[in-house]
Amino acid sequence: MSYESALAARLVPYVPGEQPKGRKLIKLNTNEHPYGPSPRVKQAMDEAMARLRLYPDAEATALREAIAQVNGLRPEQVFCGNGSDEVLAFAFAAFFSGKKLYAPSITYSFYPVYADLFGVMYEPVPLHDDFTVDVESLCQGGPVVLANPNAPTSLFLDMQAIEKLAAYTKEKGEVLLVDEAYAAFAPDNARRLLDRYENLLIVRTFSKSHGLAGLRVGYAMGSPELIASLRKVRDSFNSYPLDCLAQAGAREAMLDVAWTEETVGKICQTRDRCIARLRQKNVPVFDSATNFLFVKADATDAKHVQEALRERGILVRYFSGNVLCRYLRISVGTDEEMDRMTDALLDILGKT
Ligand SMILES: *Cc1c(COP(=O)(O)O)cnc(C)c1O
Repeated sequence: MSYESALAARLVPYVPGEQPKGRKLIKLNTNEHPYGPSPRVKQAMDEAMARLRLYPDAEATALREAIAQVNGLRPEQVFCGNGSDEVLAFAFAAFFSGKKLYAPSITYSFYPVYADLFGVMYEPVPLHDDFTVDVESLCQGGPVVLANPNAPTSLFLDMQAIEKLAAYTKEKGEVLLVDEAYAAFAPDNARRLLDRYENLLIVRTFSKSHGLAGLRVGYAMGSPELIASLRKVRDSFNSYPLDCLAQAGAREAMLDVAWTEETVGKICQTRDRCIARLRQKNVPVFDSATNFLFVKADATDAKHVQEALRERGILVRYFSGNVLCRYLRISVGTDEEMDRMTDALLDILGKT
């Protein structure tokens, strides 16, 4: 006997990475930013404290203006939500409900969860053997969602391929949703395609590149028509997804472009140095256009490697499932953290 609705009973929720309490661990399991947000964020949030009595700006106007300015868009082309997870959820409801949605078989594991919640028929399309996205096979007449760079593979798909998907879905009258959570760490992004494809929606987050995972702010960029649909769904659910502190802090983080560039540059340097060291010891690591490494840690199952790292105080992400279980996803931390992780991993793998 259960009180759950048929809908709730059917749900298989997303399982987030562990946020440990107490014990001091090197935390490389949820792709957080090792250096934190621009120092300007705190001051902006302190000032916003004076406005707590009032409801926040439902349209997050100042934040959207900042995002638009930095990306060369108009504010009506920007939508903000409580983390990009929420923006993705609204997009699934607005553009995919009742439709067949095509997605790479290995990608962000929240997509099938939203599909279930919003009555979307989710169609996973196998990747090529080397884990690159099979663009041709995603073109089957319906809307398409993908993360670029992809997670957890850390691989980047070039803009020729993204444009092909944008053109194909546009011809079919469907939306192409590109989740660019890791775009700041990649060689290119789909921003310029927005000028030609009104069916393209790009979703980004302040969690990975702006050091604000705890503030919960994400955004979408697209044509005013797509943005209006997202607002419609939001206002059918929660008119104030972003509180006034989040709006003020994220705005300042967006405007401090120098801080983002400097810290993202540092993370990319650490990443590339760490990949080179692992490869030198013959540990298979994918090319990464993100702030994490995708490492083949065992020929059959890497769970024991994850556990051995944990015993040494280092948290990394393991995914069950018959393909992904051989790999570990390891977030890029500081140089010191990555040196300690690499020493431990090489020791565990017997490759010192
Ligand atoms: C981290 C991540 C998100 C979620 O970001 P939030 O803004 O923190 O909700 C979305 N998509 C991908 C691919 C991610 O890796």
